[in-house]
Amino acid sequence: MRSLKPVQKVIDAFESLPGIGPKSAARLAYYLLHVPQERLEKFAASLSRLRLDTKECRVCFNIGESELCPVCEDAHRDRSIICVVEQPLDLLAFERADGYPGVYHVLGGALSPLTNIGPDELHISELLDRLKGSEVKELILATNPSMEGEATAMYITHQISGMRERGVASADLKVTRIGRGLPTGAEVEYADSLTLSRALEGRREI
Ligand SMILES: [Zn+2]
Repeated sequence: MRSLKPVQKVIDAFESLPGIGPKSAARLAYYLLHVPQERLEKFAASLSRLRLDTKECRVCFNIGESELCPVCEDAHRDRSIICVVEQPLDLLAFERADGYPGVYHVLGGALSPLTNIGPDELHISELLDRLKGSEVKELILATNPSMEGEATAMYITHQISGMRERGVASADLKVTRIGRGLPTGAEVEYADSLTLSRALEGRREI
């Protein structure tokens, strides 16, 4: 027996989210049936405002509330170090780890030929633009230690070597990869603060 139409609509909406299967979707929808109307409306309002009230930072593609995200807006951040991450959640993990003085660049994912994600689908050209004749001294590649993350780090390193050869990027620009401590297959997003701090400290030049 299918659920009543209004309930099924909510189940379908939950099921369209990543990591939520049909059973969890149904459990959530039936749970919401008992939630007071006022709470439901607040929930719905925050969902519908989510995209309206946020913006992609025009420099690093992190999430912010204005043209610049809170990190790029902060005058105390060291703009000579850029940490390259796949998603805003990875950035948040580094911020929680505390002690990273630099700024970021959010790629919006990782290269993945299987799902048709090529360099043009990511913010790679914008990253390379940030390096042209700039004050950047170090680029930390903090993509996930997965096959896709490694391929992305390699691709960026290769592009930078080409830029160095053409004299567009400084020969002094150091490119580093976050170090061991973060096991292969682990995701930056879920790493604990200590592991991330160590991975950052243990970064090596590539
Ligand atoms: Zn930013």
